[in-house]
Amino acid sequence: MEIIVLGAGVIGLTTAYYLNASGHHVTVVDRRSQVGLETSYANGAQLSYSYVAPLAGPGVLSKIPGWLMRHDSPMRFRPSADPALWRWCFQFLRACTRQRSLQSTRHLLALSFLSRSLMHKLVDNEPLLDFDYARSGKLVMHRDAKAFASALGLLEFQRTLGCEQLPLDREACVRIEPALESIRHEIAGGIYTASEDTADCYRFCLSLEKLLRGRGVVFEFSADVSALKHAPGGRVEAWAGARRLPGEQIVVALGCGSTKLLRPAGIDVPVYPLKGYSLTVPIRSGGIAPRISVTDFARKVVYARLDGRMRVAGMADLAGYSNALNRRRLDTLRLESEAVFPRAGDYAAADEWAGSRPATPGGMPIVGSTPIKNLWLNVGQGALGFTLATGCAQLLDDLIAQRPTAFDCSMFNLSAHP
Ligand SMILES: Cc1cc2nc3c(=O)[nH]c(=O)nc-3n(C[C@H](O)[C@H](O)[C@H](O)COP(=O)(O)OP(=O)(O)OC[C@H]3O[C@@H](n4cnc5c(N)ncnc54)[C@H](O)[C@@H]3O)c2cc1C
Repeated sequence: MEIIVLGAGVIGLTTAYYLNASGHHVTVVDRRSQVGLETSYANGAQLSYSYVAPLAGPGVLSKIPGWLMRHDSPMRFRPSADPALWRWCFQFLRACTRQRSLQSTRHLLALSFLSRSLMHKLVDNEPLLDFDYARSGKLVMHRDAKAFASALGLLEFQRTLGCEQLPLDREACVRIEPALESIRHEIAGGIYTASEDTADCYRFCLSLEKLLRGRGVVFEFSADVSALKHAPGGRVEAWAGARRLPGEQIVVALGCGSTKLLRPAGIDVPVYPLKGYSLTVPIRSGGIAPRISVTDFARKVVYARLDGRMRVAGMADLAGYSNALNRRRLDTLRLESEAVFPRAGDYAAADEWAGSRPATPGGMPIVGSTPIKNLWLNVGQGALGFTLATGCAQLLDDLIAQRPTAFDCSMFNLSAHP
């Protein structure tokens, strides 16, 4: 089949990979001049297969007032007249129940375990370029005893679903990651997961592009997809300005750009941008930077070593579609990072970046068919797009081919989203 994949971020590229492997003729289209230049560019670098619990959870509600009032809080909300923002917030609040959160965690873990085994297969079997991939392991560090106790509860629940995670006391946290020495006294405890990976998502995108070009996948850049027009037979055609794009089947993988393109075609996806920031800090020779991936749970900041660089990422701002850098937010991120890893590297020389997570209110991606016959979705991976990319792409490839999927994935279909 001729299939067009709209979007050359990590989701579009992994989708193209599995579709190409199934024998389809694939074209990937993007408005940018290259792959991976939007949200997949400088994200937190975590392949965080065991930390998939959605942001919407029972513990979040009580924290929201504090987050809204402090300018340096991990989450920020800028009200606007956009009805889509208010609808997203309403659905987010509705998703903050214990039952919804546990149910979503269960589904997301099934998807992330599939993603992990597919990523490992890819790394082991494909001639990929270096993308700073490491089986690094991950420590989620807690500063607050209450939050640590609740993490232990989640660990027990996740153990029943196949996660292998270790609770660590303060001393064990510093033993496993000596770079945490300078904040030793602030650590209440941590959860260590050996089976977590880290990698540079943008370099992964570049590597996939090279592989796919060699296998006949066509790339069209600087093509702004402007409309999905209805065509005979209950189908749609994709248009970039006055030009109709080729393809019998169309996959939308446009990240935060998906909502705007789909709505006029009658497909409403609850995807809204959740803006975040990152710093990429050159590690000094002899610098004391973490070897394993670290999450500072209280501050919602993640740290990953990418060869000679340390990637620091965090913040979640509901502030519309702009990816402009916000000095205050970046300074907060830098100060937090310097407080945790003061001797890691040259903070003054760090690359700064902002991007928007394509987030659904309940944290579940949307993968599968639509009421339009030839239109498919792979969107809404939110804070986990790199982690879940291979699994989502493989599921969609199976659905398009009408093959059995690795597990029942109907909960990711658009119709299952409120
Ligand atoms: C600060 C931050 C930290 C993060 N950390 C992690 C992490 O550690 N681990 C993890 O798993 N995930 C992380 N994420 C999330 C992850 O980066 C995203 O989920 C993922 O990159 C989304 O990929 P995508 O392909 O859907 O979107 P994008 O990468 O944004 O790709 C969409 C593509 O569609 C194109 N496009 C959009 N509209 C149009 C149009 N109309 N016409 C043509 N082209 C169009 C864009 O140019 C873009 O290239 C993080 C995100 C942020 C912001």
